[in-house]
This record gives sequence, C-alpha cells and structure tokens, in this order.
Amino acid sequence: MIYLDYNATAPLRPEALDATVATLRSVGNASSMHHAGRDAAERVDLARRQLASLLNCSAGEIVFTSGATEANNLALRAACAGGGALVTTAVEHPAVLEVARAITDATPNALVVLPVDADGNVDLAKLDDALEDAGERGTALVSAMLANNETGVITDLSPVIKAAHAAGALVHTDATQYVGRLPIDLDELDVDLLSLSSHKFGGPQGVGALFVRRSTSLPFHPQMIGGGQERGWRAGTLNVAGIAGLGAAAEAACLKMHEEAARIAALRDTLEAGLLAHVPGCRINGIKASRMPGVTSVTFSGVPADAVLAAMPDVAASDGSACSSGAPSPSHVLLAMGRSREDADSTVRLSLGYATTPRDIERGIEAVAAAVAQVRSSLAADTEP
Ligand code: PMP
Repeated sequence: MIYLDYNATAPLRPEALDATVATLRSVGNASSMHHAGRDAAERVDLARRQLASLLNCSAGEIVFTSGATEANNLALRAACAGGGALVTTAVEHPAVLEVARAITDATPNALVVLPVDADGNVDLAKLDDALEDAGERGTALVSAMLANNETGVITDLSPVIKAAHAAGALVHTDATQYVGRLPIDLDELDVDLLSLSSHKFGGPQGVGALFVRRSTSLPFHPQMIGGGQERGWRAGTLNVAGIAGLGAAAEAACLKMHEEAARIAALRDTLEAGLLAHVPGCRINGIKASRMPGVTSVTFSGVPADAVLAAMPDVAASDGSACSSGAPSPSHVLLAMGRSREDADSTVRLSLGYATTPRDIERGIEAVAAAVAQVRSSLAADTEP
C-alpha cells in the first residue's frame, strides 16, 4: 500500500508506540496517591512537558482531551459562554464550523463566517468589518485555523490576532494540521486558545489537547463534569497511555522538525510536478498560497474523485477531507474557494509525512496517472453512441 493520507491520520511513530505500550503495561490512575498512581501522574507530567516544549508554552497551559474535536468544542463553548459574536472562517473543519453553528443557534450570539479568496486566504477586510459591526455586544472570539486540512493553506494569523485583540476579542486557532509538522512558538504567536490532535503528528488516535493561555480569563465552562481532573476543565480518568504516546510523538517531531519538513516539502513538489506532467487537465488548489509541506489538493477536471480512488486500490488517499468521506455533499472548503461543485467532486487530497519515501511518490504518481486515464477512458466509452 502507498499511504498518502497523513492529514487523515499519520502512522504511529516508533517512539510513541514504545511509550504507549510501556504505559499500557503499567498500572496506575494518575489521580491516585499511592506509588502506582504517582507513576502514572509522572508519565502525564512528562508528556505535558514534552508537548509544552513543542509549542513553547508552559506545561500548566495544557488541558488534555480526546482530540481536536473536543478541544475545539471546549474552546468555543467557553469563549462564547459570556455572549458576544463569534467570528470564524468558511474553510474551518466541521469540528469548528458545526460547533460555531450549534452555539450561535442556541444563544443570541451572532455568527460571522469570513470568506476566503480563490487561493484559500482569509479575507481580512471582512474581519475588520465584522469586528466593527459587532456593536455593543462586541466579539467574544475569533476562531481561525492555522492550516487547512484539505488544501494545506496556512493562515497568516498575525493580522487576525492583532485586529481581534484590538477589538477585545479572544483568538482561538485549530492548529491540528500544523502542530508537529512546522515549528510553532506560542511566545510569539499570541493566540489565547489552540487545539491539536496527537494522531496527526504520529501519536495515538483519541487523544489531543487544548492550550489555554494562562492570562486568558474565560468563563469556566467544562463539558465533562466529574472528578475535576485537568484543573476541572476536563473531568474523567486520564488516558495515560495515549497521553504518554502523544508526548513521545511531540518530542520526536520536535527533534526532527526542520529536517522532516524540508524533506517532505521536496517530495510534495516532486509529486505535484509529476502529476502536472503526466495527467492532462489537472490543477492544484491553493498553489499560490503559503502551504503546509505535506499536502496537495488536486482537481482532475471532469473525473469524479471517488472513481479515481476506486481505480487505485493500492493508494490510500482521500477525496476532500476524511471526516466527510462518504458524505454526498461536496467539499465546503473548495466551494468557499470558488470552485464549482463538479470540480470539488473531482478533487483528490494526497498527504505525506515523516515516513513517506521517494519510492512512495514515484509509485503514487504512476498510480494516480493510470487511475485518471482509466476513469477518463471508461467515461468516454460510456458516452460513445
Ligand atoms: N481540525 C482539523 C483541522 C482536522 O483536520 C481534524 C481531523 N480531521 C480535526 C480538527 C478533528 O480531529 P480529531 O478527529 O482527532 O478530534
């Protein structure tokens, strides 16, 4: 199998596997006071420090969750609990967009969804308008993703943060596709809240975190109420093995970050050059924007993506985002970038990561080119009189 679906999930890093298995073999509830409990708590503390070092924040600013979905829910619900408008972007993951809709449907909070241009860049003028139009209630939160899961387009958050803070709003970023792949420094990037998920950078699935800047005053709004773990923000026995794996993955990603990012970007460029050379009529989405090193979103005009994927069973890739795979609706990200419904339905996402090899790329180009040619010829045969 040629695995080109790192944006859906990355393979477990060996360091993460070792830490997870070693923890699964041990016993202890991180809240217990005895020796076994302290051992579990130490494993959690280590992971907290490893993640804090990846993000350049303090360990006490991290709340472990079950993933980015939960972290996004926690962030948006807490930040909007006191009222005020919620501003987000049209290309967010459903784990932000749907939460934003649910919050604003249930409360008098206004929802503003900022448009993007043809390359996927957020329209900053519209952000200024939204902040100005919020009126007396003001804006509670601006939530803008750091990197898009479908196109890899990176949001330049600095002007967003500046404008939002000047208007008294908090800033949340869904950094799920960015953390562990490109360097991030929360001393410089002045967001108040940031969500991440371990399995996108080689940790286990089902574990993630929310960064809450210490100076951020939020109405206390936990979703999980119970034993008061994670300073009351997220009750429930900690997933110690998952958290240990997340920490080990964070440390490994941090150590190899520059070298991996450069290698992956070069492989992605080879992949795109190969597709452009061998597949007529293909177009790369967001190509003019600043993008993540490991992803390409390619539209094969007139060729349904599901048929392309079915014609290359040895390649693991995705049509749009994995979370919406199987759903009949076209990618909201590509529609927001002005693509037609037909083009959105003819788009394949190929995503690479730390273990992708040049051979994967070579074979991937051949497989995609052959699959597109096969679908095109069967479509042509179908339309022949
Ligand atoms: N946000 C983004 C940008 C994502 O890509 C994903 C995963 N597809 C999520 C949030 C949700 O992450 P998880 O399913 O691990 O909670």
